[in-house]
Amino acid sequence: MKIKQLLGVSIAVLACIANVNAADIATESITAQAPETNRQESSEEKSKDEAKDSKDEAKDSKDEAKDSKDGATASKDEATDSKEGTTDSTAASDENTESDESDSAPAEKFVVCIDAGHQEKGDSTTEPIAPGSPHKKARVSSGTEGVGTKKAEYVVNLEAAMILKELLEKENITVVMTRETHDVNISNAERAEVSNKANANMTIRLHCDSINNSSKTGATILVPSDTNPNTKGIYEPSQAYAELLKVALTDKGVKVNGIFKREDMTGFNWSRVPVVILEMGFMSNWNEDQMLADPSYQRKLMEAVVESLKVYNKK
Ligand SMILES: [Zn+2]
Repeated sequence: MKIKQLLGVSIAVLACIANVNAADIATESITAQAPETNRQESSEEKSKDEAKDSKDEAKDSKDEAKDSKDGATASKDEATDSKEGTTDSTAASDENTESDESDSAPAEKFVVCIDAGHQEKGDSTTEPIAPGSPHKKARVSSGTEGVGTKKAEYVVNLEAAMILKELLEKENITVVMTRETHDVNISNAERAEVSNKANANMTIRLHCDSINNSSKTGATILVPSDTNPNTKGIYEPSQAYAELLKVALTDKGVKVNGIFKREDMTGFNWSRVPVVILEMGFMSNWNEDQMLADPSYQRKLMEAVVESLKVYNKK
């Protein structure tokens, strides 16, 4: 056997070992129990039934208020975390193991999953908030609507998602969509499973915010928890991308309220691949509601997503 062949064999063996590790990590995260520290629901994943719209609206706003409080704590936390390095980077690089041996192979397939939040009708039947968790939340909530335009959030989310798909495909990036129509019933856990099956390099979940404070504006980025056993393996790449997205949005003049860790998101807790939620802005603000309904503003936001994904893919 020539030296070249020997080298080839050892690389193949190493790749196998790496894949086994990846599978182990994935299995671990499936079976791990989620800590029951769920404090509140967000506007995008409400837990209780949606019997009355008005009740929901009120709940939404309350949730958002709590969310922003949470955000403050979360950003404080950011300073103190830096330990997960080893496992996380292993998991992240495993995503790209398949066929390349050299670091500088840009032709490698880069897969982005886009999840347009919500759907035409919410589904208040429940599903576990995380694999193996006894805690349950609505499969998918109905989302919010524009204070002035009365446009439904699920419509804005899909409009933006379709623009993002078009822009990414222009860049020869492989796109997987959780939905392309409104009349679907796909739970948040099922949406995560779409990304898992596609082995997506990044999942972008698109949503809009709503809060009982009409002056609140700006985009907000949510990432999975770095402490929850279900998601600590995907936290690091998700956070790394979130930071790039924040820069890209800010560069385009979009206000970003921050990057907040959340462990109460079903769609995060079931994900085995990196994922972020982009809350594109507040539909409860008159002006931002108009902007979010405008295809040119949606395009501007999605251009920031594409630019940051391209940077992320190069790293
Ligand atoms: Zn939402």
